[in-house]
Amino acid sequence: MTSLPANVGSLSKAVQQLRERMNPCMLCPRMCKVNRSKGQTGFCGIGDMPMVSSVGPHFGEESVLVGSGGSGTIFFAGCNLGCIFCQNFDISHHRHGRQVTIEQLIRSMVELQNYGCSNINFVTPTHVVPAIAAAIELARKSGLTVPIVYNTGGYDLVETLKLLDGFVDIYMPDMKYADSDVAKELSNAPDYPQINFAAVKEMHRQVGNLKTKNGLATRGLLIRHLVLPENLAGSFEIIDFLAEQISPSTTINVMDQYRPCYKAHLYPKINRRPTSQEFQSARRYAIEKGLNVLV
Ligand code: SF4
Repeated sequence: MTSLPANVGSLSKAVQQLRERMNPCMLCPRMCKVNRSKGQTGFCGIGDMPMVSSVGPHFGEESVLVGSGGSGTIFFAGCNLGCIFCQNFDISHHRHGRQVTIEQLIRSMVELQNYGCSNINFVTPTHVVPAIAAAIELARKSGLTVPIVYNTGGYDLVETLKLLDGFVDIYMPDMKYADSDVAKELSNAPDYPQINFAAVKEMHRQVGNLKTKNGLATRGLLIRHLVLPENLAGSFEIIDFLAEQISPSTTINVMDQYRPCYKAHLYPKINRRPTSQEFQSARRYAIEKGLNVLV
């Protein structure tokens, strides 16, 4: 079985190049170099075909993504990060989901649009971007018009992102850490800060600051930053980076939802929620720096 439709030859060069980056796989900074079309799997644990854990309108996303019909989420199983506090570990680490073809992805996208969703929101897309890009291209030809949201943990390679230029309308990356040692301990990704900062620059180059129409996001960059206890997320450095190297008008959601999940109980530093003061000081700092902080 193939994940590509019969008319694969008509797909753009960018989609073909993304496919090539997957065999051997150099799609993301892990650079596993496994041949996924031959069934080999690397760190993310996903082969040639994407696995989807759920599809449906989601009303818990940022209000600029929700509207009256919700954000049309497609959650992918597997992940290229190894966060020991992951709230969705059954999907990301245990890879609960079902394999889908490109045709099934397209059908899901069109159904979400027909349902009235404000956008198509690909959650944890980094390790399956060849299929996503092919599906976007073909779905657009079939009448898909709503914005495409790339909702990522932020561990994305610039070379791969460049191939997504024109496919994505709204980039919504996490900015998880500013410190390499913390990124190594909590997500098994010591190069996360440098990779993430470069990725955010490339995303902003492609789509610019977030733009809205009638209260709904149409295009641009929306940063998610989860405040961790003891400033382990490096909130102040991340906010400085955004204000000084991306744009003082960057839109950011400073999030207070952290709670110990999965294996967090094994790490005393993160085995608690951030205090209100820890959260508020990060949020206040973002406001002081002039960022567009979502409420
Ligand atoms: S996408 Fe998966 S297999 Fe490919 S380099 Fe990243 S973690 Fe490894």
